[in-house]
Amino acid sequence: MKRHSTWSILGALAVLAVIAVVGFRIFERPIAMALAKHFVARQMRRNLVAELPRGLHIGLCGSGSPLPDPTRAGPCVLVVAGERSFVVDAGSGSTRNLLMMDFRVGDLEAVLLTHYHSDHIADLGELLLQRWAEGANASPTPVYGPVGVADVVKGFNAAYAHDVGYRVAHHGPETVPPSGAGGEPREVPLGDESDAAALVVDDGDVRITMFRVDHDPVNPAVAYRFDYAGRSVVVSGDLAYSESMIRHAKGADLLAHEGLQPALVQLINREAHRQQRANIEHITADIPSYHTTPEQAATVASKAGVGYLVFYHVIPPLPVRLLYGAFLGDAAANFDGPITVGEDGMLFSLPQGSSDIVKRSLL
Ligand SMILES: [Zn+2]
Ligand SMILES: [Zn+2]
Repeated sequence: MKRHSTWSILGALAVLAVIAVVGFRIFERPIAMALAKHFVARQMRRNLVAELPRGLHIGLCGSGSPLPDPTRAGPCVLVVAGERSFVVDAGSGSTRNLLMMDFRVGDLEAVLLTHYHSDHIADLGELLLQRWAEGANASPTPVYGPVGVADVVKGFNAAYAHDVGYRVAHHGPETVPPSGAGGEPREVPLGDESDAAALVVDDGDVRITMFRVDHDPVNPAVAYRFDYAGRSVVVSGDLAYSESMIRHAKGADLLAHEGLQPALVQLINREAHRQQRANIEHITADIPSYHTTPEQAATVASKAGVGYLVFYHVIPPLPVRLLYGAFLGDAAANFDGPITVGEDGMLFSLPQGSSDIVKRSLL
């Protein structure tokens, strides 16, 4: 009798399993549609800038370098000051990150370029396109940079001219006003001194300072400092150890700095030599001269008296966190404050009226 009831239970379970499988088959599509509706509604609703507390915030839309890293887009930093937003550099894949970070690209006020190495401008065309198409902007995006910015922006505008024509023809000028397509170069004059600085924006609300750094033979190369509501952040771009950075980053709450770890790059260099990949060997031998080691960046942070050091534009790729210790080397010995190896989607919030820096991940 007991044996019989066990079989009955098993039989009933089997029937239920069949019903569940068949039921799921029948309802798979409506379930998927309901889930999709939920995700689309969430995506449409989200607005990163509107959800942030009043203050200064930086988001890493790209923490990588030209060397491919499956976990990192090319260099890109989103800076939010109150309700205003700026993007420093547009590395490969960074526009997709901005969108996935729930940033409404149509609200972007301006792009700031540090220099014209390909990894810093690779996504500029996409960023300008998204800002125009999402926001129905009737004026092109201001793109600030040192001398040379006009060539770069005009080149992207020309490359995207056909695309702009297609979209205006398809969606109509009310949706995508032709006058708002592309970028408008805004060259910022800068003195020749190694620590020359110039104001990019200073309207009593936000102050953005551009200053020269050493990335020889790339000249000019600049970094940016943002001051807003008593808080301050500095975004380095690419540079070798520069006294100019120490001077202009003085007292900043947070320094987002590039970093190249020579010990790890040397591994690539030696392996390239062993496998007779001559160009990779040559290039990996050259690049340490115009970047900053994590240890040097920590010294810069210490001398400048900044509160928090974040590495972005990390070289070489660090696809697993296990590598972070090897990347940082002895950096912690040179800087007393917190150090973070940046990852795509990281957001650092500096609320107004506080000395806090709150880190979280948006991706
Ligand atoms: Zn560079
Ligand atoms: Zn670079």
